[in-house]
Amino acid sequence: VTTQEVGILMERARAALNATRAGFAGIPYAVQFDSGQPGPHVLINALMHGNELCGAVAVHHILQSGLRPRRGRLTLTLGNVGAFLPGEGKPQPARCRDQDMNRVWAPDLLEGPERSRELERARELRPLLQSADFLLDLHSMQSGTVPLILCGSTPRAADFACRLGHPFWVVADRGHAAGRRLIDSGPYAEPDGRAVAVLVECGQHRAPESARTAVETSLRFLALTGCLDGTDLESGLEPGLAARRRPAPVLVEVTDAVTIATDRFRFLHAFRGMDTVARAGTLIACDGDRDILTPYDDCVLVMPSPSLRPGQTAVRLGRIVR
Ligand SMILES: [Zn+2]
Repeated sequence: VTTQEVGILMERARAALNATRAGFAGIPYAVQFDSGQPGPHVLINALMHGNELCGAVAVHHILQSGLRPRRGRLTLTLGNVGAFLPGEGKPQPARCRDQDMNRVWAPDLLEGPERSRELERARELRPLLQSADFLLDLHSMQSGTVPLILCGSTPRAADFACRLGHPFWVVADRGHAAGRRLIDSGPYAEPDGRAVAVLVECGQHRAPESARTAVETSLRFLALTGCLDGTDLESGLEPGLAARRRPAPVLVEVTDAVTIATDRFRFLHAFRGMDTVARAGTLIACDGDRDILTPYDDCVLVMPSPSLRPGQTAVRLGRIVR
């Protein structure tokens, strides 16, 4: 990735900030379009992590494209703007300032006495972010692992993510012990509810390809929810992309997480993410004297992490469901 390529992403992200700064309903860095026709409330959120530019590029693309909802309402929000913007001792966009904004979405935390800049912004955005019928939360990753959809734990979100099918890897999981994600919160997690939220990891933070994935995912999401028509994809996407044949979605359920115990953890191969290991009992990593073996056949390695410190999750293991 060249400096020039990153510069273009930064420029588009900044343009998305400028276009949404005035805000909607008193909430800065948000915009809403109402078709005036019946239909769902559809929301795309970007920059939940301030250094994940691709989502803001997708928001910029939608605003620029002139595509507006044909049914229902479309809301576009930018999450952790404070972490994106340069600040004291922080010339570059950062993931967060005080705490991870995608681990604060439990009601006791949102409604409790704790204070942080991320909690403040989450409280401000909550009326919008927890009011959608369909929500897409756009993210990117530290390493260049393959893009995927995280659909949380409800069957309806897994079905929706498979119908979206872009990216084609769909991962169902139970979230993080460190705190609740937006997609696991409020109406999106109600077992008998109807609201659906998915998170898409579009690729490496600064790669142009991640931004292209974010744009295509966003437009396909808007078409799937009925916010846009299928024919809108042709005008919104690069020529040929709308009609391109895409691989069938694969749904993977996370069963285990490998937590690093020593400072001598290493993978046996340079895994790219979503690698499928055919045989149970295959050695994939060593953690000091502990061998890490796959627990079952066709085990999928979900988001292997390059930052290998004790206490962190090195990789999650998943089983192919369909
Ligand atoms: Zn993220």
